[in-house]
Amino acid sequence: MFTPSYFPEFSCRAARCGDPCCAAGWQIPLDDASYSFYLGAVPDIAEKTEPADDGSRVFKTLPDGKCGYFRSDGLCDIYIKTGGKLCEICSKYPRFFEEYDGFTEAGLSLSCPTAAELVLSQKSDCYAELFRETPDPLLQVLVNARRRASQMIFAEPDPDDAAGKLLGLGADLQGLIDVGEPERAAELEFSPMELLDGAEMAEARRLILSETEILSEKWGHALSAKPVRAGTTLERRNYLQYLNYRYFLKSINTEDVFTECSLICFLYRLASELCEPFAAGVRLISREIEHNDGNLKVLRAMLRVG
Ligand code: SF4
Repeated sequence: MFTPSYFPEFSCRAARCGDPCCAAGWQIPLDDASYSFYLGAVPDIAEKTEPADDGSRVFKTLPDGKCGYFRSDGLCDIYIKTGGKLCEICSKYPRFFEEYDGFTEAGLSLSCPTAAELVLSQKSDCYAELFRETPDPLLQVLVNARRRASQMIFAEPDPDDAAGKLLGLGADLQGLIDVGEPERAAELEFSPMELLDGAEMAEARRLILSETEILSEKWGHALSAKPVRAGTTLERRNYLQYLNYRYFLKSINTEDVFTECSLICFLYRLASELCEPFAAGVRLISREIEHNDGNLKVLRAMLRVG
């Protein structure tokens, strides 16, 4: 499994966390093995969980968005009752895992404030060692292109310029994929493209407000507020690196690398104008968009060309 260099440094702040995931209003699925175990160890587990639409079992959330096991001292009652035996999702979070042909990648979700702080403060090239080999020729092209993009983002003094170059790479690579010549990707230069301008961003914010599911009031307010200039160069570069790492290879499922690069550059652009501190905006985007497949689908459709 491949991970960015900061991955092992993550440690949950638990009761000292300022914005705990256990109070984010998420519907957390409970795996069958944990549920069976909890039936013997957590007396009220049947009452505090319920079946979801897809047949899985989920923890009930209280009207204020908190999990029913989140205690007033910030600790998890299940953790305490079972001596630390958390269910699959709770024990993995905020780590995410992506399976590709021949390798697995992992990272940290920026919806967690501790992870966001760690990822956004990195000074070295944390993605430098992430080269892989795969039997899938198109995936290999994407892996190589993402690596070049990552090196470019790290070296480029202004992350806004890096985002423009990444978008240009996505467009040129898409052109090669569309004519059946993706193996020529190594010949591509970084020809920059313009990111969305102020008016286009305002329209995109309006569309997010009207077309996607808005989970928290904070998100609605942030989208309706006036744009600001958010984030230091280091924070914005680290965010762009994270997005490139997490989303570029997802284009293997659709062969639509331009839409994936458009998504990366749009989220980068949105975070750069959403609110200060930058980490708070990034966290909102992660909780409202990245953790919601339906919202991600709407955004991709909005950004898709043709
Ligand atoms: S948001 Fe992160 S640091 Fe806070 S409780 Fe959840 S995993 Fe721990």
